[in-house]
Amino acid sequence: MTNEKKKILIVEDEKNIAQVLAFNLMQAGYAYDIAYDGEEGLKKALSGDFDLILLDIMLPKMDGYTVCRGVRMKLDTPIIMVTAKEEEIDKIMGLDLGADDYVTKPFSINVLLARIKANMRRASGEVIVNARNSAIIRVRDLVIDNEKYLVTKNGKEIALSKVEYDLISYLASNAGKPFTREALLQDVWGYREFYGDRRTVDVTISRLRAKIEDDPSHPQYIFSKHGLGYYLA
Ligand code: CA
Repeated sequence: MTNEKKKILIVEDEKNIAQVLAFNLMQAGYAYDIAYDGEEGLKKALSGDFDLILLDIMLPKMDGYTVCRGVRMKLDTPIIMVTAKEEEIDKIMGLDLGADDYVTKPFSINVLLARIKANMRRASGEVIVNARNSAIIRVRDLVIDNEKYLVTKNGKEIALSKVEYDLISYLASNAGKPFTREALLQDVWGYREFYGDRRTVDVTISRLRAKIEDDPSHPQYIFSKHGLGYYLA
């Protein structure tokens, strides 16, 4: 078994924050590199050398949103956005940036490490792979092909991020069964205990609805069960 360290790219212009992050990642057994502005961050990220990217939003030369989009055009590397403002969260998750997760400054290092671990596990496919009970799932006009990692509606491919795909695939594998947000955070995102944020589920569901439903305000595929959670029917 190889013992190669997972490598994390820190894109952060505040040097003291970057160094605290680097120190903690090193202590947790990760290798790291730091980029101090957006341009450098995008360039390094696109080298493909990293297992995960921690991406600040307010950065010199190029902001975190642009970096995120730029990475996503080429790579699936998990991206955790780091935001200083609570209000930015809905924007991050709502925009179709392809970010996998976010943390708000100031964050607890334990929360961050738990999220890093969960996102790496999900990216490696080990979280929900066992939950898929069939290769191709059909839900009326929707076809989820777990061999090609492809979702089509009426034969037309729907472009989904990895986490959106994982979520619909999971719901479809268990069609009709409602899941609480907490259960989805655990089963799809790979979070243990209470490190995930329930809003992550809500905004990912609304992005999925926008892509899949004819009328996202009257969903015909992904339903909410009041007080319980979400299911696919
Ligand atoms: Ca900054």
